[in-house]
This record gives sequence, structure tokens and C-alpha cells, in this order.
Amino acid sequence: IASDQSGNRALAFSKEMDTRIKSKQDMEIALRAALAREEFSVHYQPQVDLETGEITGVEALARWTHPELGSVPPGKFIPAAEETGLIVELGRWILHAAAREVANWPRPVRLSVNVSALQFELGDIIADVRSALAQSGLPPERLQVEITESLLVTETSHVTEKLRVLRAEGVGIALDDFGTGYSSLSYLGRLPVDTIKIDQSFVRGLPGDGEASAIIRAVLMLSESLGKHVVAEGIENQDQAWLLRLAGCKTGQGYFFSRPGPAEDIVVKLLAAEHDRLSTVMRMG
Ligand code: C2E
Ligand code: MG
Ligand code: MG
Ligand code: MG
Repeated sequence: IASDQSGNRALAFSKEMDTRIKSKQDMEIALRAALAREEFSVHYQPQVDLETGEITGVEALARWTHPELGSVPPGKFIPAAEETGLIVELGRWILHAAAREVANWPRPVRLSVNVSALQFELGDIIADVRSALAQSGLPPERLQVEITESLLVTETSHVTEKLRVLRAEGVGIALDDFGTGYSSLSYLGRLPVDTIKIDQSFVRGLPGDGEASAIIRAVLMLSESLGKHVVAEGIENQDQAWLLRLAGCKTGQGYFFSRPGPAEDIVVKLLAAEHDRLSTVMRMG
């Protein structure tokens, strides 16, 4: 019932948006206004150590609250921002806002930010990353950019060069939605990527789907031999968390652990974990 309702809401929303925002130009105007009025915000979803349950990182996810339309799903506004080129400005804003917030949290966790291909092609992603790190004081080792396979298919040499610069400065690179694109396994080893995120479409098949589970095991084996870290996305239940952990996956992300939420929610979680840790230490000491 819950998903039915949210489905209906999404449908009502898209009808409303379609009548108000008719053209690409209307959308561009709406997005520009949203940037100027600071209607965007960042939510964070924890990435969890599957062995210990500890939060080791967060993924920053853009949110847009339109004054009349309410919350607009990223699946709508991110493609629109990409079509209009405004993703370069929006992406820069997200990167700076997220780095500033996460740098002040009570425990040092890693921040992962989605970066669109256009930020590599039209924008100056290296300058943006440097300024976000400088302004926030976040160490480069605590930042990771998430890119998708499509980025690597189109403009390979140009993009890989920029990725190498970021890596050389200590920033991590994750390949998002792995398994849904077209990248060939042969160049996975040569790419300057240190983390692979198994797409949620494979995780969703667990535990029943033998094919999904075979693919996940193959990705884990391949990643291990290439020396890459793996994050499983879209973990929604205990069984999936267990199976992934047993298969050797170190890190997981999904509604089972936590839905994405505002910074305050994550800070509360980090503080609670820190209190637990300290009281254990005190009892033992
Ligand atoms: P993504 O980068 O693959 O992010 C993961 C998406 O899966 C998020 O959707 C998250 O809320 C959702 N998710 C997390 N755990 C679960 C789960 O257990 N079950 C299910 N069904 N979903 C889960 P969200 O926030 O709607 O974002 C959708 C996509 O929009 C992102 O996919 C990313 O491609 C894009 N996006 C979001 N923020 C940004 C941004 O700041 N910049 C760029 N370029 N893209 C962004
Ligand atoms: Mg992502
Ligand atoms: Mg993903
Ligand atoms: Mg995705």
C-alpha cells in the first residue's frame, strides 16, 4: 500500500509538473531560480561496514524542495539539469555544501559525491574539488567522487586523465551503478577507480535470484583480484546484508541500514555510536 501511495503521489506530481513546466526552457528557468533561491539541499545516506555495523562513509544525495510543487525527485531534476547544462553549477554547489557539512561532523567519515559527466566535460571538476576541499578543510582522503560507466565509455582518455589528477591528490573514485552500463571488464583494471558500487538491481534479486547472486559473486572476485573496494547498493533487508557479507563484501548501503536523511539525522547516529563505543571502553577499563 505504501509503495502504491508513493507511486500515486509521484504520478500526481509529474502531472502537476508537466502542466507547469512544459518545455525544456521552463525547466531551465525553474532550476535557475532554485539555485538562486537555494531550494536545493543535501541528504546523506550512510555506508556501513558489513562486519561491524559501523558507519564508515556517507553518500551525498541532492534534494530539491520547490515552493509550490514540494519535493521534486532527483530522477526528474538531475536529468533535466544535465540536459540544460545546469548540472555543472548544481554539482559544484552540492560538492561545496556537502564538504562544508561533513567536515564538521563529530566523527571523520568519508564523503561520496555523485559527479555527472558534464562536470568533467564542460566544468572544471579539478578546480571545483580543490576549492571545496580548501574551503571546508576536509582532507582529500575523505572525499570520493562517484562516476558512472557511461562517463568512461564516451570520452575515455580525456576523463581518465582528470581522474588520475584527482587520485594523485588523494581523492577516491567510485564507479557507481556497476553492472548496468557497457564498460568492458578488460579496462576495469586500468581505470583509476578504487571502489566499485554494485548496482541495486543485482542486490534486489537476493536471496532468490541465482543469476543476480552469481553476478555479485563474480564482481566481488574480480574486484578482489584487481585490488578494488566494493560497496553493495540498495540493501533492503537482513538476508541481503548477511549474504553479501558472507560473499566477502565489506561495505553496504541501503534502506535496511538507513534511508538518506538531513545532516542532523546522521550526526545523531554518529554521536549515538560514539557514546556506545565510549561506554564499552569505560566498562572494560
Ligand atoms: P545513485 O547515485 O545510484 O544513488 C542511490 C539511489 O538509491 C538514491 O536515490 C538512494 O536514495 C536510493 N537508495 C538507497 N538505498 C536504497 C534501497 O535500499 N532501496 C532503494 N530502492 N533505493 C535506495 P535518489 O536519492 O533518488 O537519487 C537517484 C539518483 O540521482 C542517484 O543514484 C544519482 O544518480 C542521482 N543523483 C542524486 N544526487 C545527485 C547529485 O548531487 N549529482 C548528480 N550528478 N547526481 C545525483
Ligand atoms: Mg551514487
Ligand atoms: Mg548507484
Ligand atoms: Mg543510480
